[in-house]
Amino acid sequence: MVEIENLTFAYPSGGFRLRVSSLSLAAGERLAIVGPSGSGKTTLLNLIAGILRPDSGRIDVAGTDVTALSDAARRRFRASHIGFVFQDFALLDYLPARQNILYPYRIAPGLRLDAAARERAEALAAASGIGDKLDRHPTALSQGEQQRVAICRALVTQPRLVLSDEATGNLDPESKARILDLLFDRAEAAGAAVLAVTHDHELLPRFDRVLDFTEFRERAPS
Ligand code: ADP
Ligand code: MG
Repeated sequence: MVEIENLTFAYPSGGFRLRVSSLSLAAGERLAIVGPSGSGKTTLLNLIAGILRPDSGRIDVAGTDVTALSDAARRRFRASHIGFVFQDFALLDYLPARQNILYPYRIAPGLRLDAAARERAEALAAASGIGDKLDRHPTALSQGEQQRVAICRALVTQPRLVLSDEATGNLDPESKARILDLLFDRAEAAGAAVLAVTHDHELLPRFDRVLDFTEFRERAPS
C-alpha cells in the first residue's frame, strides 16, 4: 500500500533533514511509529499524504507515485484514498462536526455524498461517542471530542490508507482503547493499511510492526 525508496527531504529554511532509504507497508498492515519530538514523524506522514514533496526519491501509495502528481492531483488523490488524522485535528471552525466529518466529499470529485456516506458518518460518530454532538461547531467541543471528529473524518470515505498522528493523544485510557478499536475495525473492514504515530507505548502490542525514529530502525512490538 505504501512503498518508499531513497526518500530525502529538507525544509527550505534548513536545519532538518529526513532520509528514508526504504519503507514498505502492505495492505491491511498496521505500523506504529514512535520517536522523540522533532524526529520527523509528522514530516514523514505529510510526505506520504502528498502535503509535502520530497527533494528526491519515490513514494508509491496504492500503486500511484504521489511525487509525480501535480499539487491539485495530489489533493484529490489524498481526499479519495487517504484518511489523515492530523496532530492538530485541522477541523474547520465554521462548519458543524457533521460537515467536518463529511468534508472529504466536498473536495474529492470521485467521491459521492450519498445516503450511505451520511449513514457511515452517523455510525462512526455514535461508535466514537460523539453521536449527540454532530450539530456543534468545533469551538464548542472538548479537545478529545474534536479528536474524535477528526478520526471520523479520516474513516468516513473508507480509505485504502489511514495515517494517524497522535490520534489518541488527548483521550483517557478507556477512550484510547475504544478509538483504536474503531480505527483498526474500520481499517480492517476496508482492507486498509494503518500507519500511526503514537506516544502510547501500551498500545504498541496491537500493531504488527513498530518503527522507531530514534535510530530509524525497526524492532518487534514488545
Ligand atoms: P515530530 O512529528 O517527530 O515531532 P516533525 O516532523 O514535526 O517532528 O519535525 C521534524 C523537524 O522539522 C523539527 O526539527 C521541526 O522543527 C522541523 N519542522 C517541522 N515543520 C517545519 C516547517 N514547516 N518548516 C521548517 N522546519 C520544520
Ligand atoms: Mg509530530
